Amino acid sequence: WSKTYDVVVVGSGGAGLSAGVAAAQNGASTVILEKMDIVGGNTRITGGAFNAVDPVEQEKKGIKDSVELHAEQTLKAGDYRGNPELVREFTKRAPEALQWLKDCGVVFLPGVYQVYGGLHPRAHSSTKPFGLGYIEALENKCKELNVPILLNMKVVRLVREGNLSGRVIGVEVQTKRGRTQYIRALKGVVLASGGFSANPQARALHDPRLFDLPTTNHKGATGDLIAPAQDISAEVVGMDYIQLLPGGATTGRFIGMVSPVESVIFVNKNGDRFVAEDKRRDVIADAILGSPTKVVFGIRDADGYTAMNKGATKAFNGAFEIGDAFKADTLDELAAKLQIPAENLKKAVETYNKAVDEKKDPLGRDPKMLIHKIEKGPFYAGRLTMAVHHTMGGVAINSHAQVMDRRGQPIPGLYAAGEVSGGVHGTNRVGGNAVAEIFTIGKMAGENAAKN
Ligand code: ADP
Repeated sequence: WSKTYDVVVVGSGGAGLSAGVAAAQNGASTVILEKMDIVGGNTRITGGAFNAVDPVEQEKKGIKDSVELHAEQTLKAGDYRGNPELVREFTKRAPEALQWLKDCGVVFLPGVYQVYGGLHPRAHSSTKPFGLGYIEALENKCKELNVPILLNMKVVRLVREGNLSGRVIGVEVQTKRGRTQYIRALKGVVLASGGFSANPQARALHDPRLFDLPTTNHKGATGDLIAPAQDISAEVVGMDYIQLLPGGATTGRFIGMVSPVESVIFVNKNGDRFVAEDKRRDVIADAILGSPTKVVFGIRDADGYTAMNKGATKAFNGAFEIGDAFKADTLDELAAKLQIPAENLKKAVETYNKAVDEKKDPLGRDPKMLIHKIEKGPFYAGRLTMAVHHTMGGVAINSHAQVMDRRGQPIPGLYAAGEVSGGVHGTNRVGGNAVAEIFTIGKMAGENAAKN
């Protein structure tokens, strides 16, 4: 062994950073290993919405909510393929993780909102764009607690004692120069290495339709630790549940537009609305993939543009130069820029505005989401297609974040949290639940590894 720690965390996204901080706060000497030359993984570039029941902020807006409702919506939206015990633990602990993040220095905007695919107004955002508010605060916390984050350290194998019956005692690492190192973990290894959305082969293995789609993810999201975990007998669940998200048609990257839901409509190449924009993400994905050329447009008016959060606005403004963002004073001009029939676009907007007046949408949008008319210029459009966004499956964990083996037993000394794990989101992840999950389960994994 070249080094020894109590807890070794693999990956420096939200799950890894929170596991590292929580382990150190519980007295464990801890290291975080990161294969890239930058901290933060996908969490750095996330929209950043954190779903948690929040009686204080929700009450101010007269929103009713409960931990049970959050759990029920999560399970139902995932077609009941999530692990109910794990989901309940997650929703129960999410408010406490939110407070813990505040204590770690993350500053949140006041209030709650409903994020795209979020199903209920319980999302919180930090004051900084994307996931930067979380990453920077937790990186500082790591410094304060003497948790080194070692970059360019790629974990390639997990070391388990005995004949697949003993503890996980460490990891094999490949350094940037191709050298092999072994790092010992006295108490536990936490897998927090993210999903495999940026790995076309792995995607296609589980869902062949997804081979050539773009992805919203950072390029390190290649699912490296799935096979090494399986090699030491870990079980995997839900590997073919892969979530797609509307991203910029040119790159697949997030260009804003989709949140908040109440102030956006989608139209296709013909200028027609084709789906209720507040539906589940998989419903919207199927509708977009089923529309002509698979390219659609999100449309907002001036107030809808202002309603986008900082990160979304920044992403949208950045998309003008690649030709995925448009602005025009009138709907006629906008339609000309989008090369879609102006009459149809105007009719779609008119019909939608009427639906807002009547609180009844022919496409079935919830009356609660019929509150914002598209009427005030200038008008904005984002050119969208489906991009691979989130892999819901991964290594099986129980409600203590312990990795389960193929016989249904926890593997001693091995924990997982975040996108590398499966079992929370079932077939379809609710918007705002991933950020909540990575910090909530990441924190729990770090604590449990430290107490092991
Ligand atoms: P999560 O949201 O679950 O925290 P992220 O994608 O934000 O996931 O973070 C996962 C991190 O793990 C990324 O920074 C990624 O580069 C890193 N990672 C992935 N594979 C490895 C590996 N084999 N060794 C070390 N770090 C890894």
